[in-house]
Amino acid sequence: MSKTVSRFAPSPTGFLHIGGARTALFAWLLARSEGGEFVLRIEDTDRERSTQEAIDAIIDAMAWLGLEHDGEIVFQSGNADRHNEVIDQLIANGHAYYCDCTKEQVDAMRELAMKEGRKPKYDGTCRGKNLGPGEGRVVRLRVPESGSTGFNDMVKGPISVENVELDDMILRRSDGTPTYNLAVVVDDHDMGVTKVLRGDDHVNNTPRQILIYQAMGWEIPRFGHVPMILGPDKKKLSKRHGALSVMEYEKMGYLPEAVINYLVRLGWSHGDQELFTREELVEHFSTDGLGNSPSVFDLTKFEWVNSQYMQQADPERIADMVMDFLEREVGAEEAAKVERDYVARVVPLLQPRAKSIVDMVEQARVFLVDVSHLQYDEAAVKKFLTPEAKAMLEELLERFEAVEELTHDSVEEVLKGYVNEKGLKFKDVGQPVRTAVSGGAPSPGLYDMLPVLGKEQTVARIRRAIEL
Ligand code: GLU
Repeated sequence: MSKTVSRFAPSPTGFLHIGGARTALFAWLLARSEGGEFVLRIEDTDRERSTQEAIDAIIDAMAWLGLEHDGEIVFQSGNADRHNEVIDQLIANGHAYYCDCTKEQVDAMRELAMKEGRKPKYDGTCRGKNLGPGEGRVVRLRVPESGSTGFNDMVKGPISVENVELDDMILRRSDGTPTYNLAVVVDDHDMGVTKVLRGDDHVNNTPRQILIYQAMGWEIPRFGHVPMILGPDKKKLSKRHGALSVMEYEKMGYLPEAVINYLVRLGWSHGDQELFTREELVEHFSTDGLGNSPSVFDLTKFEWVNSQYMQQADPERIADMVMDFLEREVGAEEAAKVERDYVARVVPLLQPRAKSIVDMVEQARVFLVDVSHLQYDEAAVKKFLTPEAKAMLEELLERFEAVEELTHDSVEEVLKGYVNEKGLKFKDVGQPVRTAVSGGAPSPGLYDMLPVLGKEQTVARIRRAIEL
C-alpha cells in the first residue's frame, strides 16, 4: 500500500474559523496516525475574494495549533498552466469538448428540463459539434451517458450517483480560467494525495471529481466528508454562537492544546475519553471514529477543556502568556510596571480556577493593583468590615507588622493564634481579613495569598480597610 498523503486545501477568503481548523486537524491526524504526509494547498484562484491577510491568518493559525505540514505550501493560482494542460489533454482524448452555448441558452435548457420533470442540466448540445477554441467558449467534461459513479466515503459509507444525473460540468470558463473541480483534482493528483478528508459541503463534488480522475486514467484517492459544526440552536455555526476565528482564541488566552482537544471531540470519539495528549490523538485517531451527524459547538465545554489544560500547564508558561496579554491590553509601558517574577508567583494560586488567560488576568487584578487602587465591594464591606472587625483588624495589623516575613506558616500562626486566643471561629477572622486584602473579590486562601502579596501590601491593605 502506498504511503498516506492527506491534505488541507483552504480558500483564503476569510480567517481560519473553528470549522476549518477542525477539518485541518482531522486531515493532519489522518496523515500522522498513518505515518504519512500532510500537505497544505492554498486555493487562491478566486483573485477577488482571496487576500494576503487571510493567507497569513491561515498559516499563523495552523502554526499556532501545531498542525505542521510537509513540504512547501502549494498555491493553486500558480498551477493555472498545468490545469489548462490537463484540460487540453482531456479535449485531445475525447473526454472534454468546447461549447459555445450562451448563458441564455443554458438557462433555457435548465428551465425546460425542470418543466419536464427532469434534473436541470446542460443538454449536451455541443457534444457532437467538435468545436475548437474560440471567443466565449467554455470546455465541458463529457460525462458518461450511462452507469453510475460511486465511492466508499471514509465517514459516510458507500455513496453513488447515476451519471445521467450529472451535468457536463465546465472545466474551463470562457475567460480561460479552470474551475474548482478541475483544479482540485489536478492538484491533488500532482501532490500525490491519497486521502481527501474535507467538509461535507463538498460531498456532491466528489463524483464529479472522480469522473475527472477516470477520464485522465489517474488513481482515485479515498474520500471522506465530515459533517458541519452547528450552533446550539442547530443553525449554521457563526460568531453569534461564540465561535470565533482560531486566532481570536489565541488572543483571549486559550491554550492551543485545549483548542485541539476541544475540536477533535467535535465529531470524533474514542470510547468516552475526553482529554487527550497529542501523542494519544496520533495513536488513536482513525476515520472510523468520525461521526456522521453534525456536532454542536458548546462554549461552556470549550471553556471547561481549556480550564483543564490551564491547571496542568507550567506556571512559567502561563506567566508569559499573562505578560503578553497585559502588554496587549494596557500597552508595553504599563505592563512593564508589573514584575514577571511576581506574576509567576501569583499564577499557581489562580490556576485551579481560571478558565482562560483573560479570566486569570481578571482574577489577578487584586494582586496587581496597588493598595490605593484596590476596589472595595460595597456589600462585602458592609457585611464584614463591621466595628468589631475594625478592632480585630487593628490587633491583627500589629501582629502582622511584627512578623518578619509572611509565609504560609507565619500567616497561619498569626491567624490561628488569634482565633484560639479569642475563642473565635476561623471565619469570623478570615472573612474580614480577606475583605481587607482583596476588597471582597473572589481570591485564593489567605495562607497562600498573603505570602505572595507580601508584608507591605498586606499591612497597607489592612490599614486602608481600618480607615474605611
Ligand atoms: N478550497 C475548498 C474550500 O475551502 C476546499 C477544497 C477541498 O477540500 O477539496 O472549501
